[in-house]
Amino acid sequence: TSGQQEILEGIRWNDAGLLPAIVQDDTTLEVLMFAYMNPESLKLSLESGQTWFWSRSRGELWHKGGTSGNTQAITSIHYDCDSDTLLVKVKPEGPACHTGEVSCFYRELPLAGKAAADTPQADELHNGGSQTAEGRFAVLAELERVIAEREAERPEGAYTTYLFDKGVDKILKKVGEETAETIIAAKNKDNAELRLEVSDLIYHLLVLLQERKLPLDEIMAELSARHERPRRD
Ligand code: AMP
Ligand code: ZN
Ligand code: ZN
Repeated sequence: TSGQQEILEGIRWNDAGLLPAIVQDDTTLEVLMFAYMNPESLKLSLESGQTWFWSRSRGELWHKGGTSGNTQAITSIHYDCDSDTLLVKVKPEGPACHTGEVSCFYRELPLAGKAAADTPQADELHNGGSQTAEGRFAVLAELERVIAEREAERPEGAYTTYLFDKGVDKILKKVGEETAETIIAAKNKDNAELRLEVSDLIYHLLVLLQERKLPLDEIMAELSARHERPRRD
């Protein structure tokens, strides 16, 4: 379209005639890789719906996954405020990195004052104990995101992977068990135990919502609608 033509003419290619492109998983929001596009590879990406880049090392157009089979189906391409960077959201066919890692950003530099994470899960879930209402509940959104990532990537040895592999009946069984254990802890007036059981229950409920593809946002919207218009039930 002429609108698209106008946009493309406003793109600010760098001195080498290239545009940095950040590739993000549209489902898990994980940043997968970074590469450059030239005008031809952007055109090919827009037309084919798969990612094409310019390989600076090989000096040639590069169809991501052309040899590995790990192609990336494009769901959207955004350009930034000053039109010099692209954000390409994709549904990947396989690992983005040639090492076999899901994301190219699998290595971490040591940050002063930050303890090494014991597990990826723990690292992803620590939110620094912020005390604002938003901060206190941010862990729920983060947990939802991590669960979606586990479902998409199925990392070996992760309990969440085990639940998704077993299927919805296993998840429902766990929701039932954790509900029963929550009731028992409350009956026993044991808040230390109740804290653990309610945590288990909320986690398994989030796994269930992910399995059913019901976003936590819809639960939050329902709860706030009830709050604005109180009901008797
Ligand atoms: P592929 O595009 O996945 O078929 O891989 C073909 C070649 O592109 C690989 O052998 C690597 O040299 C290179 N390559 C693939 N993925 C990446 C990446 N994420 N970052 C840098 N180079 C890559
Ligand atoms: Zn910019
Ligand atoms: Zn890589």
